Amino acid sequence: MTASLIDGNALSKTIRAEVAVRSAALRQRGITPGLAVILVGDDPASQVYVKHKVNDSHEAGLHSLLERYPATMAQADLLGRIRALNADPLIHGILVQLPLPRHMDANEVIETISPVKDVDGFHVASAGALMIGRPGFWPCTPYGCMKMLESIGYELRGKHAVVIGRSNIVGKPMAMMLLQKNATVTLCHSATRDLKAMTLQADVVVAAVGKRNILTADMVKPGAVVIDVGMNRNDEGKLCGDVDFAGVREVAGWITPVPGGVGPMTRAMLLVNTLEAAERAAA
Ligand code: NAP
Repeated sequence: MTASLIDGNALSKTIRAEVAVRSAALRQRGITPGLAVILVGDDPASQVYVKHKVNDSHEAGLHSLLERYPATMAQADLLGRIRALNADPLIHGILVQLPLPRHMDANEVIETISPVKDVDGFHVASAGALMIGRPGFWPCTPYGCMKMLESIGYELRGKHAVVIGRSNIVGKPMAMMLLQKNATVTLCHSATRDLKAMTLQADVVVAAVGKRNILTADMVKPGAVVIDVGMNRNDEGKLCGDVDFAGVREVAGWITPVPGGVGPMTRAMLLVNTLEAAERAAA
């Protein structure tokens, strides 16, 4: 069996087009959805990410604002900027690009963002809302993975989903979202004893570890859906995921590629969250 591909590039394009339509409808009412992106320091990867986020926003008809500060910025000043943006009616979403310089407390920074503008979904209030199934903002990467499952019409109810990785931004919220859709969820991590025994039972596997080949063909049940969140470099320096794509695609029913899978979906879901923040503010 060769797995069907879940094409994140194509799906994200559709989602971005939907955002553009909804954004145009809001603009007709005199409201332009606004996203503020804050970058502290000059981490090269972060610079690329924020550039994409700002460009994506413009393309979808959102107003976006990039604020760049030196790595030496005092945390108190950053908190002051966030509070000003919390009060700015033209800004509906605030994103502070991580990682922050070492002298800053990322939790304190994120929790200074108003939960109604927390479009990254990292605020403790957003995490709590997801946990108890209340409206909030879902973190963009697992939200994008859910959209990928939705796009193939996959019914999660009663299925066994295995998530590998338990970070606060990917693995844990992913598990909560799958649970909310009535999957039976197993959450694996570095202390999991027999990962293969877990993944072999899975109808859906989400790999979110950051290690190449954490999931190989012998670990996958035939026909399973495999979602690869990982972003790594192979020996040639090319972007690759956590999944041994060539091997696993011969066993799985569906698989996401890297690049062109979860990455573009993460970017698209930030636009969705920003738009939703603006729509909620306008309601
Ligand atoms: P993270 O915070 O480093 O978490 C990695 C998780 O993997 C941890 O929970 C860790 O377990 C677990 N783990 C490590 N070794 C393991 C093993 N041998 N077996 C099972 N679990 C193991 O990483 P993250 O932020 O969640 O990101 C994960 C990957 O996704 C990275 O490659 C990142 O670049 C990528 N990512 C991609 C996107 C995207 O848009 N495509 C977005 C975000 C992240 P412990 O908790 O026990 O340490």
